[in-house]
Amino acid sequence: MRSLSISESSFAANAAQAEGRPDLTTMMAAAFDGIVVLDERGTVRSLNAEAAALFGYAPDEVIGRDFGMLTPESERSYRDCLRPGAPGVCRRIDGLRKDGSVFPMELGVSEIACEQGSLFIGLIRDLSQRRRFEQGVQELQANRLDLIENMAAGLAHELKQPLAAIGAYLNFARRYLNEENPSVEKVAEILDSADAQIFRASEIMDNLRQFIARGETAKTPQNLNDVIRTACEFTDALARQHNVITTVDLAASPDLVVINKVQIQQVVVNLKRNAVEAMQNWSQREMRVSTCVVEGNLIRVDVADTGPGLPEEVQSRLFAQFTTTKPHGLGVGLSISRSIIEAHNGKIWAEPNPGGGAVFSFVLPLADA
Ligand code: ADP
Repeated sequence: MRSLSISESSFAANAAQAEGRPDLTTMMAAAFDGIVVLDERGTVRSLNAEAAALFGYAPDEVIGRDFGMLTPESERSYRDCLRPGAPGVCRRIDGLRKDGSVFPMELGVSEIACEQGSLFIGLIRDLSQRRRFEQGVQELQANRLDLIENMAAGLAHELKQPLAAIGAYLNFARRYLNEENPSVEKVAEILDSADAQIFRASEIMDNLRQFIARGETAKTPQNLNDVIRTACEFTDALARQHNVITTVDLAASPDLVVINKVQIQQVVVNLKRNAVEAMQNWSQREMRVSTCVVEGNLIRVDVADTGPGLPEEVQSRLFAQFTTTKPHGLGVGLSISRSIIEAHNGKIWAEPNPGGGAVFSFVLPLADA
């Protein structure tokens, strides 16, 4: 049983006992919250062990003294509650411990009319833990909002590619239909390609939805060479359009990784698109996409081009958000790519291509077979 110190003896304890009801003393002792009994002047008439412990005093150090000793100077507004008819009020005020520290608490006051006048029962709850929890939740929400903001910037960027591809396929189909004797099979083929890009755009959206709902996206075992091969197909049309000769050499074996397929494809598409864009006004236009196993447990992917190389002014912050040297660039492709690779416990970097141009590389951990 909790210890209790109640000097007030006029709570009809005897009558309660006689009727088999628990008296106030017993109820205060059993309560999990701090309870203080005050008179109309604000003098503490009694308090339970919870309340004493909350403020770091022994009950005897408080009884008979003004309740104000348990609150900072600035918090004397609780006195408003100590007027007959006023109570029922529950407010958040600061409490003052014996050691001088201040903590948030909730004070609820109810009034008991007794022979000597009114007594007030104050129910005290320490809010420090709740405040810490609320602060934690706020921080978490802010972090998540930041992340969602980044994802939204990324989404605008990532959807550009499939939307542009869909537009290109539809234009191509329209032009082709104006030719003499267009073949139905060929048109169906073009529409299938457009359809694949619509599917890809919806996968990108699904990924974002999943991320917002769960804070992460689903990862599954995949053969990385296959994932890269598909991602290369997405950008084949763009490379051809700019007369870029692409070599694909997917030699890594084994190549099993646990990844979010759509995200890793996004990274490859970003690197390939950057390579094509870097070379579009360049005489030598070659791109090589390759994979190999390094250090026994990592799979490395390289996207090498023969363009102008990494611009000096952005070399040190290539992967930072909003770094761009393109007139209409968003500067988010590489920063998203880095977030994705790091969320897969990998690493991404860029180096000059020894023969001229740039090489963007990333490594991912291989899955245990
Ligand atoms: P954006 O493509 O919108 O500019 P990115 O984050 O994808 O954003 O790229 C940032 C910058 O990195 C580019 O503007 C360009 O200056 C540089 N960059 C990226 N890839 C290459 C590359 N293959 N060759 C040369 N510069 C590159």
